[in-house]
Amino acid sequence: MRRIKKTKIIATLGPASSSAESIENLIKEGVDVLRINFSHSTHKEAENIIKEIRKINDSLSTNTAILADLQGPKLRIGEVSENTELKDGDNIIIKTGKEFKGDGKTLYLNYNNLAKDIKKGEKILIDDGKIILKVIDIDKKNQITAEVIQGGILSSNKGFNLPNTNISQPALTEKDIEDAIFSAKQNVDWIALSFVRHGSDIESLIKLLDQNTNHRIPVIAKIEKPEGVRNIDEIMKFASGIMVARGDLGVEINAAEVPLIQKKLVNKAKKARIPVIIATQMMESMMKSLNPNRAEVNDVANSIMDGADAVMLSGETSVGEHPVEVIKSISQIIGKVENSDLISLKHKHPTDYDSERFITKSVCYYAAKIANDTKAKAISTLTNSGYTAYQISSWRPKTHVLVFTSNKRILTQLNLLWGVKAFYYDGTESTDRTIEEINKIAVENNLLQKDDKVINLTSMPIEKKGMVNTVRVSKI
Ligand code: PGA
Ligand code: MN
Repeated sequence: MRRIKKTKIIATLGPASSSAESIENLIKEGVDVLRINFSHSTHKEAENIIKEIRKINDSLSTNTAILADLQGPKLRIGEVSENTELKDGDNIIIKTGKEFKGDGKTLYLNYNNLAKDIKKGEKILIDDGKIILKVIDIDKKNQITAEVIQGGILSSNKGFNLPNTNISQPALTEKDIEDAIFSAKQNVDWIALSFVRHGSDIESLIKLLDQNTNHRIPVIAKIEKPEGVRNIDEIMKFASGIMVARGDLGVEINAAEVPLIQKKLVNKAKKARIPVIIATQMMESMMKSLNPNRAEVNDVANSIMDGADAVMLSGETSVGEHPVEVIKSISQIIGKVENSDLISLKHKHPTDYDSERFITKSVCYYAAKIANDTKAKAISTLTNSGYTAYQISSWRPKTHVLVFTSNKRILTQLNLLWGVKAFYYDGTESTDRTIEEINKIAVENNLLQKDDKVINLTSMPIEKKGMVNTVRVSKI
């Protein structure tokens, strides 16, 4: 029987991986979700990539999801000349306003209120903290001077973090609004928003998306600022998923706090039964090397043991030298770790007894329990909205979660969720017949074989396509 991993892999596309051939190789090696990063991608490039992914999905019969990542109020330096180096002890000028090409003496920044918001003595971190500056003067309305505390080589468009500064930027910039509308029109599966600070940031993105599509595109809140961590409960009221965006998070706050924040965010997401992604610097050394270092292997393993739905690669697959090897290596770690009995996540029965969906929630919870008790090989569910897939996946049963739906749109969307594999199915004849047919599909796909037990969740009467209300244990 084919071994299929349950923890999902997200790979960011970029110059190293955007050709049709590379995309196909990534998918064949186990990538479940492809991220288009609008900090770098143009609409034209994104449009071509989306077309390619869908073509490949058709030819390989895969459900690779597309995640569009909006830059949000990310501060970035503009373009810089080749071989730009900031030298320790030098003073450099940072200017806002009209964009220009920077160098070792003057840099552009996409943040008009810089001089107004920043104060003397505050720290500036560039390129995930690799370069450190200190503000020594606020020269004019659109210009400051900073001293280089820790220099280094600088390339174009790197991120710029102000951990001590209260930044007055809107949650959605004009660029984000354009990128969000474009992504909605392209019908991507998920949209992520960077630097989320409040629940209302997500709420306003949802409103914008709803105005531009006739169905809900689920939104992921990237948690990478102290305000995002502080306001997580309010953010999770609106977000359909969260990302622990450790690249910026580890610069905006003390990096030593990140491991426990990661754990806390995963627990919160699991309790809310929404997916959680652990991102950034997972296999960083593989940008150049053919193997990850031991600390990276442990980091990926710990993220899986914490309970991540998905692990995400950024530079490793977008600009690194070995995108395909990265996927092979991370798949191998997942395969070694995820099925261990040493992993135990806290499970608590849902307690919102009065909620409209309580019956479905409870059925899904017990289905996961029965599956483990009976050593079933799979839980299958029929769903229209995908709701039961989220529920079952979050209980992290020891089985696969097979989802059968006539709603084509969610086939790819659900591919982000831990353990979930979705299939198209639109029969409504009778419950008996349906279970027979979907079990057959699972066998044909090498997910079940003779004598395996499977937990089937359905809604009776079947033709009504209502909420799940029935658990059946069947044997192949
Ligand atoms: P980014 O987000 O790659 O868009 O910066 C991820 C992170 O900050 O970890
Ligand atoms: Mn980030």
